[in-house]
Amino acid sequence: MRIVCVGGGPATLYFAISAKLRDAGHEITVIERDPPGATYGLGVVYWDDLLDMLYGNDMESARELRAASILWQEQEIRMRGTDTAYFGGYGYSTTRATLLDVLTRRARELGVDVEHNREIATPADFSAIADADLVVAGDGANSRVRQLHSTQFGSRVKVGGNPYIWLGTDKVFDSFIFAFEGTPAGWIWFHAYPSSPGISTCIVECTEQTWHALGLDACSDSDGLRQLEKIFAGALDGHSLISQSRGQSARWLRFVEVSNETWHHDNIVLIGDAAHTTHFTIGSGTRLAMMDSMGLAHCLFEHDDLDLALKTFDERSRESLRQVSAAARTSKAWYENVDRYATGRNAVDLSYAMGVRSGYQAPWRYQTHLISQNPVWRRVRRHMATGERWVLARRRGEPLARRSRVPALPPTS
Ligand SMILES: Cc1cc2nc3c(=O)[nH]c(=O)nc-3n(C[C@H](O)[C@H](O)[C@H](O)COP(=O)(O)OP(=O)(O)OC[C@H]3O[C@@H](n4cnc5c(N)ncnc54)[C@H](O)[C@@H]3O)c2cc1C
Repeated sequence: MRIVCVGGGPATLYFAISAKLRDAGHEITVIERDPPGATYGLGVVYWDDLLDMLYGNDMESARELRAASILWQEQEIRMRGTDTAYFGGYGYSTTRATLLDVLTRRARELGVDVEHNREIATPADFSAIADADLVVAGDGANSRVRQLHSTQFGSRVKVGGNPYIWLGTDKVFDSFIFAFEGTPAGWIWFHAYPSSPGISTCIVECTEQTWHALGLDACSDSDGLRQLEKIFAGALDGHSLISQSRGQSARWLRFVEVSNETWHHDNIVLIGDAAHTTHFTIGSGTRLAMMDSMGLAHCLFEHDDLDLALKTFDERSRESLRQVSAAARTSKAWYENVDRYATGRNAVDLSYAMGVRSGYQAPWRYQTHLISQNPVWRRVRRHMATGERWVLARRRGEPLARRSRVPALPPTS
């Protein structure tokens, strides 16, 4: 089958890998508008569930991705720089650029043609590729392919309320940090995590009112950055913020919620963010995009009939998305009302409210949260997580050398 993929993000690159592994006879081209290495955003987090799936699908790229990722442990919630609370858990992170590099190399190794610096933006651009057996539109949340056929897809696009900016910092965090700062204009916060040696990802967010009142809508990029460094001086330990997106300064954006009545029309299929987005505060968009990739490749392998393959893909993937989409909408609503939850609360109570934001919790959960702030309990929890991680890594076939030690807990205040 001759397949053209629009967009060279995780969705299309991993689809190309997955389809080639199932049928090396496919001729696949991936068309990306940006040059190699130029991407938006800085880091992405992911968890063992994604690694389990990637190892099961393609051990080569899974091993490379894991080797290029950083393990972070614990989540720390800081209010006003000093008041701190903790959650357990661990995860992995890497930069988007690294992820794309690993996937591009693997796709090329399997015979996929990856073309950079070419945009599919106009009806004429689209006509030039429309004679492929299948066009896979993985050109992100603002997909041009989807926009060119928005009636046929039944597309709905809703823009979120909170402005956010996807930055980096040279402050190296070793856990996942939420920092909330109260200003006379309202609350502003970031979440940050290590994403490459010497660099952490740092995503700053606030409500629309706070953004205007702080003047972040009106100042220059560099003045805005200096202001954020001042507001977060405590949480960043005086370190700098780094602003870069597609070779320019990062911009304040709003989350775009995308849904479609159908993900396929004629020989076109939407995958990843072009088909559906989930709010970034649950950190699942890349995982879901890569699940689409595996799902679509598998449906093409299962069914000779293209219509049936696309219909099956649409039904299965949509079903597996239902719960996570609901959780993402709840999470977005929580962050759009942070001022209400943060005002008058301490870090332990705010972190509890954050942890249970997606629904009912048993009454003893709050007591457990209080106990889990104890440094001895935190250490025990880290050791238990290390054991769990070791078992999971062995089960999926990670090399033994990757075994990680429990780093010392930072001193508690
Ligand atoms: C602030 C923020 C933080 C996030 N953090 C996480 C996280 O920690 N973990 C996680 O799992 N997910 C996270 N996500 C979500 C994740 O970024 C997306 O869900 C994921 O990138 C979707 O992959 P994709 O391939 O569908 O689209 P994209 O990654 O957006 O890739 C689309 C590609 O298409 C290219 N393109 C666009 N238009 C055209 C065109 N007209 N012609 C040719 N090429 C084109 C783009 O340049 C891009 O390379 C975050 C999102 C945001 C906004």
